[in-house]
Amino acid sequence: MHNQDLEQKLGLSCSRKYELKVNDNRSTMVSVKWEPDRTKVSLHRMFLNAPRNIMDDLACYIKQEKEEISPLVRAFIEDNLKKLDYSHLLDPRKLQVEGKKYNLKTLYDELNREYFDSKLKLNITWFGNCAKRNRSKITFGLYHDSLRLIKIHRMMDTFPEFMIKFVVYHEMLHHVCPSYFDDKGRHHVHSKEFKKMEAKYKDFDKANDWLRENQSNLFTYL
Ligand SMILES: [Zn+2]
Repeated sequence: MHNQDLEQKLGLSCSRKYELKVNDNRSTMVSVKWEPDRTKVSLHRMFLNAPRNIMDDLACYIKQEKEEISPLVRAFIEDNLKKLDYSHLLDPRKLQVEGKKYNLKTLYDELNREYFDSKLKLNITWFGNCAKRNRSKITFGLYHDSLRLIKIHRMMDTFPEFMIKFVVYHEMLHHVCPSYFDDKGRHHVHSKEFKKMEAKYKDFDKANDWLRENQSNLFTYL
């Protein structure tokens, strides 16, 4: 798709040939190839509604007036990535919810009912394996915004229920309170609002005590 509006918004001059494409994939937000006779640009469709200052910044990069994509454009991408919903690309057959002890979907449904009036529509799956390896860092859970997908590490299948539910709840909150960039360009992942909601978990103190007690063999990284 060639987009003249976008070219106009970018204010690219006619003295050089530009090939502009708009894409709708999950991996390419900005791709620029500077070839001798033309510049090939592929932009994610999120830029169709980008404000003026973002497009000006982006144009500087495309025209090689700046070497790098500006923090402002990066923040715009981050913010908009979260709004994209590519969950239809998920293959439900690949989501593994059954563990040895826990069924993740059951835990998720219970939390969704108890804390969110069953309003959240997220996906959940196990990742990793239970085998203990030397690690310096353990990722208990992850949340992929654009896939609406929570991933819980298989090692949690052996944890107490209040702990694994705490981690699932934490990841659900990443959807409810998305990270954002403030006007100074700082990235807030666990915002004040996030922490306030996290503290509403009914076993919040118990879970934190448990983490403290087990810290010597667990390097926690939520
Ligand atoms: Zn987190």
